[in-house]
Amino acid sequence: MGMAWVKEFDRSGDMIKKSQLKDKAFELKLYDNLIKRLHSIQNFQRTRTKRSKMSQENTQKKVVVVGAGWAGLGAAYQLAKAGCDVTLLEAGPYPGGLVAGWKSEEGRSVEGGIHGFWYPYSNIFSLVKELGLDPFTPFTRSSQYSPAGLEVESPIFQNEPRLPTPLGTFIYTRFKRLPLEDRLSALPLLYSIIDFDNSDEAWRRYDKVTARELFKQFGVSARLYKESFEPMLLVGLFAPGEQCSAAATIGMLYYFILAHQPDFDVVWCRGTVGEKIFKPWIQRIEELGGKVLTGKRVNDLILDENGKAKGVVCGEETFEADGVILGVSVSGIKKIVAGSKTLNNYPEFRNLSNLGGIDVLATRLWFDRKVNVPLPSNACFGFDRTTGWTFFDLNALHDEYKDESGSVIETDFYHANQLLPMSDEEIVAKVHKDLATCVPGFREAKVVDRSIIRVRQGVTHFAPGSYQYLLPGTTSIDNLYLCGDWIITNHGSWSQEKAYVTGLEAADRVLEKFGISQKASIIPVEADELHIQLARTINTTARSLLKSFLPDFWLP
Ligand SMILES: Cc1cc2nc3c(=O)[nH]c(=O)nc-3n(C[C@H](O)[C@H](O)[C@H](O)COP(=O)(O)OP(=O)(O)OC[C@H]3O[C@@H](n4cnc5c(N)ncnc54)[C@H](O)[C@@H]3O)c2cc1C
Repeated sequence: MGMAWVKEFDRSGDMIKKSQLKDKAFELKLYDNLIKRLHSIQNFQRTRTKRSKMSQENTQKKVVVVGAGWAGLGAAYQLAKAGCDVTLLEAGPYPGGLVAGWKSEEGRSVEGGIHGFWYPYSNIFSLVKELGLDPFTPFTRSSQYSPAGLEVESPIFQNEPRLPTPLGTFIYTRFKRLPLEDRLSALPLLYSIIDFDNSDEAWRRYDKVTARELFKQFGVSARLYKESFEPMLLVGLFAPGEQCSAAATIGMLYYFILAHQPDFDVVWCRGTVGEKIFKPWIQRIEELGGKVLTGKRVNDLILDENGKAKGVVCGEETFEADGVILGVSVSGIKKIVAGSKTLNNYPEFRNLSNLGGIDVLATRLWFDRKVNVPLPSNACFGFDRTTGWTFFDLNALHDEYKDESGSVIETDFYHANQLLPMSDEEIVAKVHKDLATCVPGFREAKVVDRSIIRVRQGVTHFAPGSYQYLLPGTTSIDNLYLCGDWIITNHGSWSQEKAYVTGLEAADRVLEKFGISQKASIIPVEADELHIQLARTINTTARSLLKSFLPDFWLP
């Protein structure tokens, strides 16, 4: 019966015997449905054949990924999609790394700091689309406070008429106090933006200079540095200017603020990233056959007689592998190397001892009443000498707290070394006082609950001179790869997006080693605007001309 229909309604039209057709429209509809069903059966068979072919190729290929942050999860997902036998080992009780979220004893959602997703995070935005998720708020406006009150308000830059970069950033940002002459003193700094093209050579040239020296050298006013650039460094690189590499400073500022007018626009998760993104993502990895195991702290690597990685050690257990990816933070890898007889034999891993992490403090306070917070995301400076902080109105950002009777405020402190030893009570009192300085309505409000999370040495410190010790995604162990937000990559992204991208890059390297042609579709960062490209070409040509007749004599 089915076949007869197919013959009868062959798409060549002429074969339809018109006399037999009583209700052509009805029958054509039936025909369409039938063809759709046949196509879906064919697609199903094709996918099954492709997956079984892929798994035949890859069943023997075991990959162990260490660390379930953005980087490790990105790598594991890509490998599972390619049909590899992938096991992701995470030391902590929850996946997510720095972005992990969990429930407090009272059943309230908490996380180790709130995370923004900036306009250029194309790969993360593409991932959530692929997973069919809708985790984000609309783009939000933000402001900046000092002990003197409101200092800056930022618009949603993509809604303003588009201007060649960096004009939009300068013109549309509303400074409440900073005089125009201070803002104009940033202009000479544009040369460094042109000169620093994210190449290895540019990193080497700028990395040993501190951000403070860079700004001084280019004539930035003391007030612009104190009230604008340093606060950006404290929240972007988690350290004050004298402790940040100038290379990392320009790279970060260009990516988040200067490359294109909308780059500073940001969205937030409508709950914890753990709940909104990682939970369904891990479920997908598991559906694809991947294993995600928590509470598994890796402490060594096992090599075979040819010096190739053949497994990892995790306490009493060993996990065999044809390829290993380490997706752990700087402090995480330093700990592995310190306890590993194997990795300790390699200078590149021993040299990691020269890198450092930065302390962060994440607090969440529940108040007894709603206080009106003008904008949902806010950065603050000038409260402590070398600490920057941000606060977020979670009633406005998180679905869970929309109808809460009192305000729920996340307040995160970066470069918080001197705050970590304080007791929880002292921290709550400090946060409350600082919040009330910015938004006086908090003075009368009472704190009814709190979450205090101390992240020791948690985030990467891009210190001056650190670039020489950072590692690329490949290592001198043939089948051992690295990923994470501190890895050298020429992609150009930062933070969560960089971690995720380096995870995909690591997976691609493993697959290439196995001779599997499947590759992640990594979206490159948006190209430089034309005038920047032109200025960079002129600058590179001038540089190489100068180099051809000047002696190689001066410090870079
Ligand atoms: C308070 C705060 C706010 C931030 N705000 C933002 C923001 O707004 N936007 C943004 O993009 N980024 C932000 N970041 C940075 C962002 O969190 C990181 O860049 C990103 O999460 C790094 O991901 P990762 O996978 O490289 O590393 P991690 O998240 O550090 O993951 C590494 C994982 O490895 C595990 N691990 C370590 N050692 C071992 C071992 N021996 N065995 C097994 N597992 C191990 C760790 O437990 C961890 O889960 C913020 C960070 C903090 C702390």
